[in-house]
Amino acid sequence: MPLPWALRGLRDGVVTTDWPRRDDAYQAEFPAVVQVDHSAGTRPQRVRLLETGLDHLCPSGALLATDDDIRLDRGRCIGCGRCVDAAPDVFSWAHSASTAELTRGRLVVPRLVEDEETLARIRAQLAARVGRLGRSVHIRHVDAGSDGSEEWEVQALLNPVYDVHRLGIFFTASPKHADILLVTGVGTPGMSAPLLRTREAMPEPVVVIAAGTDAISGGLFASGYSTRDGVGSFLEIDVWVPGSPPSPFSLLHGILLALGRIPAQTKGRR
Ligand code: SF4
Repeated sequence: MPLPWALRGLRDGVVTTDWPRRDDAYQAEFPAVVQVDHSAGTRPQRVRLLETGLDHLCPSGALLATDDDIRLDRGRCIGCGRCVDAAPDVFSWAHSASTAELTRGRLVVPRLVEDEETLARIRAQLAARVGRLGRSVHIRHVDAGSDGSEEWEVQALLNPVYDVHRLGIFFTASPKHADILLVTGVGTPGMSAPLLRTREAMPEPVVVIAAGTDAISGGLFASGYSTRDGVGSFLEIDVWVPGSPPSPFSLLHGILLALGRIPAQTKGRR
């Protein structure tokens, strides 16, 4: 006989994470995004990869060859792990929930150090807007042509482990009651007009979050006949959450970053 829910609750105790108040051990294990090792020791391997070409390695074109090095566009990465398997000295998984960024350009790593001033200005502008929101915010989620994977992670935000209600974050079906527009999916032509109508129906100030590689860049389907290059091509985006799909922790990081309740990454390169 299945254990009654009340007894199961007593057995398991409190399962809700304390993040972001305290670190969460699960984050230390979760492979959130790929990173490139740019230490001098891996330079020969990076040069060898550049010589053999990066196209055979990455199915989504997330690896970019610069003059003599490799850049990674996390906004295009689908997290297939092929690069990590093929060249583990150069590529590895970064285990962190703090993956969201305030600009599209900052999803490309290693970052350029000169964009810190721009980031500070964007952050101040966003803070001025969200300062008018109270401690309780409502999210309108729109699936603009997703494969469904992001929706599972968005739904998980409401389960007892993440329980976003504890942070004053709620989902609403009505754009007229919403403060945050959370967009998943590639932004198909059929969904672009409904998405823009939803944005227009929301009372100002509005924060827009593009969640997942598909929403950020179109992912594997970028520039296809039924897709666009992500929802940023026709909608102004405030926060970009990479991942295919992003984990609930990454989504939560994006939401809290948008609300100014968590610091933005300020290191120039990573
Ligand atoms: S994980 Fe896959 S999609 Fe991402 S950079 Fe590596 S090969 Fe490309």
